[in-house]
Amino acid sequence: MSQRTFSIIKPDAVRKGHTGGILAEIEKAGFKIAAIKRQSISKDQAKGFYHVHSARPFFDGLTTFMSSGPIVLLVLEKENAIADLRKLMGATNPANAEEGTIRKKFASSIEENAIHGSDAEDTAAFEIGYWFAGYELL
Ligand code: GDP
Repeated sequence: MSQRTFSIIKPDAVRKGHTGGILAEIEKAGFKIAAIKRQSISKDQAKGFYHVHSARPFFDGLTTFMSSGPIVLLVLEKENAIADLRKLMGATNPANAEEGTIRKKFASSIEENAIHGSDAEDTAAFEIGYWFAGYELL
C-alpha cells in the first residue's frame, strides 16, 4: 500500500546547489513527489519542528542551522516510503553512511547532513501537517 513520508533538503545542500541532485536520487528510487516547496524558515519554526530534540545539547545549533537559509520541503509517496527513504538517506553521521546513500554523496557533517526524513508513521503525520496545508496535498 502506498505510504507518505516527509522530507527536507536542508540548507547546506540547497546552498551547495544539490537540490536537483537529491531530487533525482529520490525519483530514481521510485518516490513520487506529492508536494514540494522551497522556503526560508524562522528559528521558532525550526524549534517547533524539532521539539522532540529540545533537551539535546545540539538543539540550539540545529535550529540555528535549519533557519540559516532556504530549505526544500517535500511530501513523498511510494510503498514503504518511510523506511525506504531512511535507507536512501543513510546514517545521520555521513562518516558512517553507506556508499550510494544521499548523505554519503551530499552531506558534510553530523549536523549539516543534507536531508531529513520522518522516522515513523506518527512523526510523518505530524511533520506533513506542520509544513503543508490540506489543499497543498490534493
Ligand atoms: P536523523 O533522523 O538521522 O535526521 O537524526 P536525529 O533525528 O537523531 O537528529 C536530527 C538532526 O539533528 C540530525 O539530522 C542532525 O542534523 C542533527 N544531529 C543529530 N545528532 C547530532 C549531534 O550529535 N550533533 C549535532 N551537531 N547535530 C546532530
